[in-house]
Amino acid sequence: MAYRKIQGDQLFDGVKMFDQEDPRILIYQDSGEIEAILPPQEAGEGVQKVEGLLCPGFINTHCHLELSHMAGVIPEGTGMVEFLIQVMTRRDEGASDHLLAARLADQQMSEGGIVAVGDISNLISSLPIKAGSLLHYHTFVEVAGFVPSGAEARLGQARQVYKGMSMVLGAGQVNLVPHAPYSVSKPLFDALDVPGLTSIHNQESQAENVFYQTKEGDFLKLYNTLGLNLDFYTPYGKSSLQTWLPWMKQPHKLLLVHNVASAAEDIDFALGLAQERAQQLFWCLCPGANQYIQQTMPPLALFREKGCQITLGTDSLASNHQLSILSEMQLLQEHFPEVPLAEMLGWATRNGASALNLEHTYGRFAKGFQPGILLVSGLEGEKIRGNTQVKRLV
Ligand SMILES: [Zn+2]
Repeated sequence: MAYRKIQGDQLFDGVKMFDQEDPRILIYQDSGEIEAILPPQEAGEGVQKVEGLLCPGFINTHCHLELSHMAGVIPEGTGMVEFLIQVMTRRDEGASDHLLAARLADQQMSEGGIVAVGDISNLISSLPIKAGSLLHYHTFVEVAGFVPSGAEARLGQARQVYKGMSMVLGAGQVNLVPHAPYSVSKPLFDALDVPGLTSIHNQESQAENVFYQTKEGDFLKLYNTLGLNLDFYTPYGKSSLQTWLPWMKQPHKLLLVHNVASAAEDIDFALGLAQERAQQLFWCLCPGANQYIQQTMPPLALFREKGCQITLGTDSLASNHQLSILSEMQLLQEHFPEVPLAEMLGWATRNGASALNLEHTYGRFAKGFQPGILLVSGLEGEKIRGNTQVKRLV
């Protein structure tokens, strides 16, 4: 069997960074399957040297491919509730060819070194792109419906999308999941409390917590616009996460997305409950979208301090200028320069793979894995700059 051997200035294997002081050679098959990582004295001859950092392919754990045509439709800085209203009411605006827009977005992700995506679908429309993509897609078919009596009907519609997606993509690659605490009723949460993997938009704004605590604040505007009568709803007196998480007893893995308004006590509560139930929590951060929608950043220091498993997501082109994990890391570095590059790369590779049930194939340079091999060039020390580039070698 023919092996390729390659050495960069640095190598991140998904867990650890190796540099010039303790270099490693990556040995892999033409197929991209990893054979070994060895010190130079053990690697033999025929090593190709390249400039830059070698690392496994990036995992984008939160995207909405089907919204790609909405690039640039919603202005920046609307705030969360206004953004939601605009997404719902302007979903048909933007590029007229939705499939082409999704195809270009898929290509953009591939060219930026993304190899696998956790993608939200409300419709079946993105299926042809996913089915023909170079990327691995794990599809979360989202269910929404805040009026309890509508739960069955909403579930029925989503099951149709689930059926269509899973027939083509495989049942293990698709899950039915709740959209967000402010859009999912208790009966719907109960119906979606099943074993396996789930994903939910969580604490995207403080207004979400306020609505759960007191039935006041910005979200009333959303329900008003939707013409929704809230007589059935009694506030819980607790933050959204502390309310809904106890309802989701069965999932093995929960991917919490955004977490902009998660407080220390929310994180403690969630970690404690997850430990009791042997559930794995992943905290997906989408800083580009948080900046776009509400000029804010997630409380990263808290998540790091409490040892949360962090992953990265781009969200959609309706709320971001690009679908690039490198750009998300660059933005985080601008706001949190203290975070080591290797730690961030771990979120973008190993943690992301684990969140999507891909921990045995993606996210690490380990024997038998096929994680994609990226060459990141133009770093300035640990810093990602405007001219930093990613090239997928395999
Ligand atoms: Zn989203």
